[in-house]
Amino acid sequence: MPRPISATINLSALRHNLSIVRHHAGAAKIWSVVKANAYGHGLARIWQGLAATDGFALLDLNEAIMLREQGWQGPILLLEGFFQPQDLVLLDYYRLTTTVHSDWQLEAIKAARLSAPLNIYLKLNSGMNRLGFPVGQAETIWQWAKSLSNVGEVTLMSHFANADNHIGAQTQFSLIQQASEHIPAARCFANSAAILRNPETHYDWVRPGIILYGASPSGEVADIAGIGLQPVMSLNSEIIAVQSLSAGHSVGYGSRYTASAAQRIGVVACGYADGYPRLAPSGTPIRVDGILTQTVGSISMDMLTVDLTPCPQAQIGSKVEVWGENQPIDDVAKAAGTVGYELMCALANRVPVTLRP
Ligand SMILES: *Cc1c(COP(=O)(O)O)cnc(C)c1O
Repeated sequence: MPRPISATINLSALRHNLSIVRHHAGAAKIWSVVKANAYGHGLARIWQGLAATDGFALLDLNEAIMLREQGWQGPILLLEGFFQPQDLVLLDYYRLTTTVHSDWQLEAIKAARLSAPLNIYLKLNSGMNRLGFPVGQAETIWQWAKSLSNVGEVTLMSHFANADNHIGAQTQFSLIQQASEHIPAARCFANSAAILRNPETHYDWVRPGIILYGASPSGEVADIAGIGLQPVMSLNSEIIAVQSLSAGHSVGYGSRYTASAAQRIGVVACGYADGYPRLAPSGTPIRVDGILTQTVGSISMDMLTVDLTPCPQAQIGSKVEVWGENQPIDDVAKAAGTVGYELMCALANRVPVTLRP
C-alpha cells in the first residue's frame, strides 16, 4: 500500500468553472491563466479540460512549447514576455503572443529575423509598479510598436493591484482609460477579481486564474459563494495513528499544543513536504470522516495532528479531507495566513494525483 495521501483533480469542475467565467466575462475572450504549472494542478494533465478557452496565458517558454507539442493550436500569451533576444527564435517558431513591458524588448523584436510578425501585448503600468511602461507613455510606445514591421496585432494590457480588496480597481482603471483614450487597440485588463467585480474593465480579453480552479481571489469564501464555482483540487489523506492524551500532555515538535483534559488526537499522513503550510496554527480547519475539526500542534514534514473530539468514531483508516469539495481551500489558507493560490501551487511532487474526468 502506498502512503494514503493523494490529490484528486476534477476536470469536469474545471470545465464547469470555465463556463461560469464565460458567463461573467460577457463578450470578452478568455485567456485561461495556467502559469505555475496550472496553479499546481499540472498543466499537461489539465489543459484539455480548458480546451473551450480562447487562449492560454503562462510565463514559462517550456510550458508554452509543451502546449503546442500536445496539440494546442490557439493563442498562447507569455505574461512576463521574453527574457532575452534569443528567445524570439522560439516565439516565432511556436507562434507565441508576448507581453512587451520594456524598451529593450521592442528593440529586440525590431532587430529579429522573424518568419511572420508577432502579436504583442503592450504592458502599461497603471499603479502596480512591477512590469510595464508608465501609462503616460502609452501613446508614444503604441506608435513605436505599430511602426515596426515585425509587430502584428497590438493589444493594451494592464494589471490591477487591488481588484480583490476594498481599495478596488477604479483608480488604476481611470488612469488607463485616460492614457489610452485615443489608441485604437484591443484591451486586456481584468484578472479574476475584476472579472467578478468590475465588468466595465472587461473589454476584449480577460485573464482569469484562480476562479478557474474554484477558489476566491480575495481569500474570502463568501466572495465567491453563490456563483457556483467548484473546487478542482482536493487533497485527501487518512488517520494513520490515534493518541489518547491526558490533561497536561502535549503533542508534536515544540509541544505547541497541550491538552487541557483527556483528548483523542488523530495523526494524519500529510505534512509540509506534501505542501501543507507549516505555519498553519492549531485551529486550522480539516475534516475527518466528513466532520469539521481542527489541527492541533506543529505541522511536521510528513504528519499533522488533529483533534478527534468532534468525531469520536474516528480511528486508524478514517478519511481526512485536507481541502477540497467540502473543506474550502480558502478557509485553510486564511487560518494559515496565506491564500489559496499558494497552497495549490505548493502541492508537492510526491503527492500522487488522480485525474477525475
Ligand atoms: C496571474 C495573473 C493573472 C491571473 O490572476 P488571478 O488573480 O489568478 O485571476 C492575470 N494576469 C496576470 C498578468 C497574471 O500574472
